[in-house]
Amino acid sequence: MAERVNLFDHDRPGLEAFFSDAGHKPFRARQVMKWAYHRGMRDPHGMTDLSKGLRGWLDDTAVFSLPEVSARRQSPDGTVKWVVRVATGDCVESVLIPDRGRNTLCVSSQVGCMLDCSFCATGKQGFNGNLSTADIIGQVWLANEELRERGESVSNVVFMGMGEPLLNFDAVVRASNLMMDDLAFGISKRRVTISTAGVVPAIHALAECSDVSLAVSLHAPNDELRNVLVPLNRKYPIAELLAACNRYVQGLGERRVLTMEYTLLKGVNDSVGHARELAGLLRPVRCKINLIPFNPFPASGYRRPGGESVRAFQKTLIDAGLAAMLRTTRGDDIDAACGQLTGRVVDRTRRQARYLARAGVAQGA
Ligand code: SAH
Repeated sequence: MAERVNLFDHDRPGLEAFFSDAGHKPFRARQVMKWAYHRGMRDPHGMTDLSKGLRGWLDDTAVFSLPEVSARRQSPDGTVKWVVRVATGDCVESVLIPDRGRNTLCVSSQVGCMLDCSFCATGKQGFNGNLSTADIIGQVWLANEELRERGESVSNVVFMGMGEPLLNFDAVVRASNLMMDDLAFGISKRRVTISTAGVVPAIHALAECSDVSLAVSLHAPNDELRNVLVPLNRKYPIAELLAACNRYVQGLGERRVLTMEYTLLKGVNDSVGHARELAGLLRPVRCKINLIPFNPFPASGYRRPGGESVRAFQKTLIDAGLAAMLRTTRGDDIDAACGQLTGRVVDRTRRQARYLARAGVAQGA
């Protein structure tokens, strides 16, 4: 028998095409989505408003298949981290951050990452492929299963786990479509955020097909410094990146803004001078700034700045008329904070071996 299609890989247009290509009515997609996403019924035989014949055909050709949870850790602050085994057998991580009635889920989009930003643990371990749409929305499904017990659900999703979402464009766009679709997860487009290190052509492509919220990992106010922290900057420098950002935000409703992320690294990008330079750069951009004090990991070579210099940085931005928020660190005791996610990756780039050698760690130790 041919391998069955995983229906979690399709957004609404994809499911409609799946049914019509097989000679069925496209509106079957709506029925099936309601069964799966609204009522939790993944077995075609339980979808009682479909004819028996259609149920049998669906069961023969398709499944709703989820990734598996391989481990779960919870921090006393309420943050939960899941290690999720995806279809290829690799493991990635997702993190749930409950905060005053909001449940923000941080999802992974790739196994490892190709970009190698100098201060990110995920980047150090190399890359082993893209997640499927099912692997991505499976992370939301699994979090919802746990939240349902307390009468809650995921209210916000951020693509800030492992990977560069815009280098897994199609699967990520389909996954974000499902997150925002009323027939699936029904989360507001203001509350689904794709975070990118700045893949400029993909930002332009995203503007053509989506109005999902966008966050950009800036981390430096000039190309010289950004080239070091985010090597992708050598390909897409700041001026091109901000032009793409401006175009993207102009396509959204007037009251929506971009998020600029800025990880504060002690003695590297955290001076008041950097803050002034950043303010000058971002004043013409419709954005708010999210300041993230660096989350350490072994042999990273970076340090987190003290509270006083973080506040001085934030105040400089605010005094210059910008909206600058400080992201409080959550879940660092379970290695669940930004940039600490590592999952289990079979590296195909040998980057992990180089990193471990540099860090003086014997492999397999
Ligand atoms: N590849 C995407 C999403 C992944 S990371 C991107 O670059 O946006 C989500 C955010 O965490 C990014 O802004 C990233 O730069 C930041 N980050 C990575 N490592 C970090 C660390 N060790 N401490 C604090 N923030 C970090």
